[in-house]
Amino acid sequence: MATKKSNTIKLKFDSARSLAPAPESKSAAKIDPQYELFINGKMEKPQSKKYFPTINPATEEKLSMIAEANGADVNKAVTAARNAYAKTWKKMPPAERAKYIYRIARMIQERAREFAIIETLDGGKPIRESRDFDVPTAANHFFYYAGWADKLEYAFPNRRTEPLGVAGQIIPWNFPLLMAAWKIAPALACGNTVVLKPAENTSLTALKLAEIIQEADLPPGVVNIITGAGATGAAIVNHPDINKIAFTGSTEVGKIIQRAIAGTNKKATLELGGKAANIIFDDAPLDQAVEGVINGIFFNQGHVCCAGSRLYVQESVFKEVVRKLKDRLETLIVGDPIDKNTDIGAINSKAQLDIINKYIKIGQQEGAEMYQSSCALPKKGFFCRPTIFTNVAQSNRIAQEEIFGPVLAIQSFRTDDEVIEKANNTPYGLSAGVWTDKGSKIFNMTTKLRAGVVWANTFNKFDPGSPFGGYKESGYGREGGVHGLNAYVNIV
Ligand code: NAP
Ligand code: MG
Repeated sequence: MATKKSNTIKLKFDSARSLAPAPESKSAAKIDPQYELFINGKMEKPQSKKYFPTINPATEEKLSMIAEANGADVNKAVTAARNAYAKTWKKMPPAERAKYIYRIARMIQERAREFAIIETLDGGKPIRESRDFDVPTAANHFFYYAGWADKLEYAFPNRRTEPLGVAGQIIPWNFPLLMAAWKIAPALACGNTVVLKPAENTSLTALKLAEIIQEADLPPGVVNIITGAGATGAAIVNHPDINKIAFTGSTEVGKIIQRAIAGTNKKATLELGGKAANIIFDDAPLDQAVEGVINGIFFNQGHVCCAGSRLYVQESVFKEVVRKLKDRLETLIVGDPIDKNTDIGAINSKAQLDIINKYIKIGQQEGAEMYQSSCALPKKGFFCRPTIFTNVAQSNRIAQEEIFGPVLAIQSFRTDDEVIEKANNTPYGLSAGVWTDKGSKIFNMTTKLRAGVVWANTFNKFDPGSPFGGYKESGYGREGGVHGLNAYVNIV
């Protein structure tokens, strides 16, 4: 009898795709029909008089209109930040600064549900992701850096530090609120003021954060949040009164920024693209490794700079791992991101979906063998089936270039030296993963893999206390942890 019962439960679980819909309620999220620019503590109409729509990529419905900041708006925001820096923030005792940052952290926690829903509606990521990862991790970053504000002397023993001044911060669309937190929290803790620009496709949670900053009574001008497209970002980068540029985005734009600030006194941290390798040795716990690989590339639709988009499997377990991956792929639920059961949500934009589909074609043309989940895709919105490629050559574009979508390129290897060589053989170096039972192998690999983060027997794990950043074309500088403070101080 007992056996029968457990079989029924198992069957239900196996047919996860036929689970009844479990949508999060949208009513907990208040989205205004139009948003202005947050400058000097107030919502200001853009001098450009222009607005652009932001849509829900899962339904293609318009959510709101967003102000487009031009050069004059950027100038207003930078002036507000400069005044706030000189008159208030720089002079404020660090313990007082910390209180404001703590307040922001607590208010994000209080409104966590609203933030998670809006993040999912505006960006397309599964509500489980926004609820369990993005929003709590964003709050944790504010908590963590609030703690450092009055302890900088311990971060830099026997040295005196000064803030840099006004930081221009430009962020991408894949982790909108979390990236804002990564940028704003350490800047404020170190005594800088901020002009932040979210990505055009995902401005809403940054604008909600502006509401919190207003309610937290942060002195006007300490944080300014201005929206717009690439030209707005470029106007921030080129403004003469900015002291530091913190950028997360593509390697292509990172290079433009580097050229633009060459010969100026502006400091920069650049967090750019990636092509991370996950490496499975034959002694690894295979089921755990497969789950980690799935999580590492299909999590957030592969819209993760450190996504494990390449997989190297030791030859003796290659067939078994590929079979397990295919089986697991079939159980992933692709669909409405606001549904709590969804594993893979919407691709962030039509433009990004076109890029991913282009690479899927390239992979086939290059002679790789494709396997896609057989799941049905919603009729409206931007969706992509989770896709794996085998029979991939190291020189193939799908093994070298960042796709930024749910596409995994798999190769086999025989020896440690061979896999180190292959894993390091891309222009990027942001992250990597090693799956093995042997500690000594982990240490050997972590010292030889040219990647900013190497996870062992896990993947995509983040903590505000640990630094993150890349080698080579993945950028420079570190965010997070005590290292992240370096990016916002002058040591005098
Ligand atoms: P992107 O095109 O480089 O955009 C990033 C940000 O820069 C956006 O706010 C964008 O504005 C702005 N921007 C565009 N052109 C600019 C210019 N000429 N000057 C100044 N700012 C400019 O990247 P994306 O498509 O948003 O994001 C995907 C890329 O980001 C991927 O390559 C990914 O690997 C990388 N990424 C890296 C990390 C990391 O931590 N290393 C994290 C997340 C993403 P608009 O979007 O409004 O045009
Ligand atoms: Mg949107």
